[in-house]
Amino acid sequence: MKVSEHIQLTKRSVSLLFSLSRAKITCLLLGSFTGAVMPYVPVWFSARLLDCLYEGREAGTLALYVLLTVGLVFLLSLARAYLDARCRMASTEMYRNENWKYSEKAMQMAYESIEDPEVAHLRDRIQRETQVGYNIYRLFHSLEGIVGHVTRIGISLWLTAPFFLLKTISAPARAAFAAGLALTVLCKIITTRKVEELNNQYYSGCVHLNMLGSKFHAYLDDYHSGKDIRIYGMSEGLTAYSAALRRETFGMYRKKNRRQAEVQIANVAMSRILQFGLYVLLFSAALKGGVSVGSIARYVSCVLLLLEACSGLAASLQTALVNQEYMKRYFSYFDIQNHMYQGSLTVEKRDDNDYHVEFRDVSFRYPHTREYALRHVNLKFKAGEKLAVVGANGSGKTTFIKLMCRLYDPTEGEILLNGVNIRKYDYDEYLSIFSVVFQDFWLFSFTLGENVAGAGVNRAEKYDGRRVERCLEQAGLGKRLDTLERGLDTFLYKDCDDGGVEISGGEAQKIALARALYKDAPFMILDEPTAALDPVSEYEVFRKFNEIAGDKTAVYISHRLASCRFCDKIAVFDEGRVVQTGSHEELLAQEGGRYHELWHAQAQYYG
Ligand code: ADP
Repeated sequence: MKVSEHIQLTKRSVSLLFSLSRAKITCLLLGSFTGAVMPYVPVWFSARLLDCLYEGREAGTLALYVLLTVGLVFLLSLARAYLDARCRMASTEMYRNENWKYSEKAMQMAYESIEDPEVAHLRDRIQRETQVGYNIYRLFHSLEGIVGHVTRIGISLWLTAPFFLLKTISAPARAAFAAGLALTVLCKIITTRKVEELNNQYYSGCVHLNMLGSKFHAYLDDYHSGKDIRIYGMSEGLTAYSAALRRETFGMYRKKNRRQAEVQIANVAMSRILQFGLYVLLFSAALKGGVSVGSIARYVSCVLLLLEACSGLAASLQTALVNQEYMKRYFSYFDIQNHMYQGSLTVEKRDDNDYHVEFRDVSFRYPHTREYALRHVNLKFKAGEKLAVVGANGSGKTTFIKLMCRLYDPTEGEILLNGVNIRKYDYDEYLSIFSVVFQDFWLFSFTLGENVAGAGVNRAEKYDGRRVERCLEQAGLGKRLDTLERGLDTFLYKDCDDGGVEISGGEAQKIALARALYKDAPFMILDEPTAALDPVSEYEVFRKFNEIAGDKTAVYISHRLASCRFCDKIAVFDEGRVVQTGSHEELLAQEGGRYHELWHAQAQYYG
C-alpha cells in the first residue's frame, strides 16, 4: 500500500470512528491520555520527596508532597473511571450504528449486488473480521494506544531530558544509552510485525473454515432444518463435519500460537537484556555524581516508562498498519456502487390502468456468468391482458420477471413501459406499479395484518384492517382467519411472539397473494402462485383468478400448462427464448411446437 493510500485510509477511518460515536472516541482518547499521565505523578513527587528527605526539609513540606501525590492520583483515577464508564455506555450506541451501517448499505444496494455471491462473501468476511476484533474495533484500540504511548513518550522525554544534558556523563555513555534505547524499540517493532503477520495468516486462512462452520451450526440450531436432519439421520454427519472443521481451525490456531510464543520469548529476552544494560549505564553514569538521589529515581523510572511507551507505540502503529488491509476491505464493501441508471421520469398514474409493456430484443446474462439466461426476447402485452409465461424449469421465466421489475437491467435490448425505456423512470415510482408474488417470497415474523399490508409495517402507521381481511378472503385464507383468536394481530411464527402461529406452505402462499392484492398495483405478477397449494385451493385460485386480477395486467408464471389455460395470451419459454406466443387453443393446434409437446408430456402426469 502506498503512503498516500495509507493517509487517505487513515483519514477516512478516523472520520468513520467519529461518525459512529463521537462520545465513545472522545472518552476513549481522553481516558487514554489520563491513564498515561497517571504513573508520572508518583514518579515526580517521589523524586521530590526523596530530595526533600535528603536535604532534611521540614515535615510540613513532606506532608504536602504526600498529600499532593495522593490527591492528584485520586482525581486522575476518578476522571479515568468516569471516562471508562462513559466509554462503555457509548459503546452500545457505536455497536448499533455500526450494525445499522450494514443494513443501510444493503437497502441502498442494487438487487443485483445483493444476489451476487461475491458481495455476500465479502460482507460475511468483513463482519466476521469485525467480530474477531479487526477493522474499526482494532482501529479504536490502536488509536487509544497511540494517544497513550505518545503522551508517555512526551512526558518521559521531558522528565529525562536533563539526563542527556548532564555534563558529568560522558558523550559516549549518552550515545550508548540512546543506541540501546533505539535497539530495544527496533526489536519490539520486528517482533510485533511478526506476531501480526502470523495473526493475519491465521485469520485469512480460516475465514472460509469459519464461514462453513457457522453455516453448519446454523443448520444444527435452526428448527426449520430440524425435521430433515432427523428424518434423514443427518445429525451424525453434520456433527462429524462440524467437529472436523473445528479440529482443522484449532490446529491452525495452535500452530499460530506456538510460533507467536517463540517470537514473544525472543522479544522479551532481547528487551530485558537491553533494558538491563540501559539500567546499568544510567546508574553508573549517575553515581559519578552531580545528580540528586531523587533525580536518579526519576530518571530510572522515566527511562523504564519511556522504553515501555516506545515499544507500545511501535506495537500500536504496527497493529494499525496491519489493520489498514482490513479497513481497505471493510470500505470496499461500503463502496460498492449502485450502477443502475437512476431515471427521474414519473410514472403516469392512469385511472384507466392503460399501461403496456414491451420487451424489445432483450438478452440477459447474470453477473459472473457466461451463459445467457434470456436471449433475444421480444414480447408485448397491454393493459388488462392476462399473460401466462410457461416453460420448463430453468427456461428463464423468473429472470423475465426480475427484468420486468428492474431488479436487473438487460445486458442487451430494452424494456419499454408505454413506449419509454424503463430505466428512465424514477425507480421507486416504477416499482410501485407492480405487485409480485415471487416463488421464494418472504413473510416476516410480524403480525398477519402487517404482513399483508406490507408498507404498513411501520407500527405508527395503521393499515386498513377491512381491506386486509378482504384480500385474505380473496386469497382463500378467510376460514383460517376466523380461527385466529387475535385475528389480524396474530403474529406469524414464534420468533417475535410466543403466541405466534406456524403456518403451512400453502397458507404462506395465500398470505403472499393477499399482500399482492392489498398493494393494488396495476401489474400483478404471480410466479408459480399455486405450487404449495392443495388441488382444491389451486382450483379456487384459478377459478377466481379473473376476479382477483380484475382489470389489472396480470402475468402468471407456471411450469404447469393446465394452470394457464384461462390466460388471454401464453408465452412459451425454452432455454431463455420465447419460442411461441398465442392462446391455449392456438398453441395446442401447432403440432410439433414446444407447447404441444409440453402439454402432452404433462397430460401423462397431471391427467
Ligand atoms: P425458471 O424460472 O424458468 O425456472 P430462471 O429464470 O430461474 O428459470 O433461470 C434461468 C437460468 O438462469 C437458469 O439457468 C438459472 O440457473 C440461471 N439463474 C437464475 N438465477 C441466477 C442467479 N442469481 N445467478 C446466476 N444464474 C442464475
